[in-house]
Amino acid sequence: MEKQIEELRSSFEEDLKNVKTLKDIESLRVTYLGRKGNLTTILRGMAALSTDERPRMGSLANQLKTFIEERLAGRARELEASETKELIDVTLPGRMPRKGSIHILNQVLTEIEDIFLDLGFQIASGPEVEDDYHNFEALNIPAFHPARDMQATFYFSDRLLLRTHTSPVQIRVMESNGLPVRIIAPGKVYRSDSDVTHTPMFHQVEGLWVEEGITFGHLKGVLEAFIHTLFGRDVAVRFRPSFFPFTEPSAEVDIGCVICKGKGCRVCKDTGWLEILGSGMVDPEVFKYVGIDSEKVTGFAFGLGVERVAMLKYGIDDIRLFFENDLRFLTQF
Ligand SMILES: [Zn+2]
Repeated sequence: MEKQIEELRSSFEEDLKNVKTLKDIESLRVTYLGRKGNLTTILRGMAALSTDERPRMGSLANQLKTFIEERLAGRARELEASETKELIDVTLPGRMPRKGSIHILNQVLTEIEDIFLDLGFQIASGPEVEDDYHNFEALNIPAFHPARDMQATFYFSDRLLLRTHTSPVQIRVMESNGLPVRIIAPGKVYRSDSDVTHTPMFHQVEGLWVEEGITFGHLKGVLEAFIHTLFGRDVAVRFRPSFFPFTEPSAEVDIGCVICKGKGCRVCKDTGWLEILGSGMVDPEVFKYVGIDSEKVTGFAFGLGVERVAMLKYGIDDIRLFFENDLRFLTQF
């Protein structure tokens, strides 16, 4: 029987050399170790052995069994490794990583900033968590003033809030800088508001020019130059009297509807005009808060929504598209 076991080992080693696939391994395992396999047959013959011989033969047979199992497992690992390698087709074209791009709002914001930098403005910034004084009071909106209802505010406490507009930067700049002041202040603002034209967070650009001799003519000249650079020389511009607590007189600025070219459509509600920004001469009351003598110095201020400008410029009808991060939308720009 010892000879049989030896022969079985050499025939297994021969057979193993011819193994080419994982399937071959499985059939080899069945041939040697299966219920009707060669080794099993030998083990069955043990019953005929004398009790002296049985333990030694049993041990030899078990050693062979372990040997076969280990060799089969080792060969299987080799085959698995090489089959994975074969799956790599080096002739396939490479997969290009997706290219990122600048978000449409940042593109529009940069364009707006560049226009005002060319007009001699500097860029200023202020905190998004503001106090009531800078966001309302110093802008001539005292407590209980009905104008506070124009802006649904997120409050942290009685004194702290998320700024509802970029106008507090006007106050901070006039408090800390000497005259003249000629700044724009771009940034995020927050209002408790959400529908197709409102999101709880959006972007504004504030503008302020304070200097001796500034008139409404400067306001018109700067804003017309801005609009014509952004939307093209042919676009119509009109100034419409309005009200803001921190400017007097105040004007809202409209451009000829970019969709229907002034004929009247759904977007402009058949008026032919679209509101693009608010503006006005700085109210003397505001100057009092920052210690500027309104008898000597005048100025104008304006504010616009970046999302609104982007929507008008590109004909986008839902503000929420800017923040959904759908690449199908974003890659168009
Ligand atoms: Zn229209």
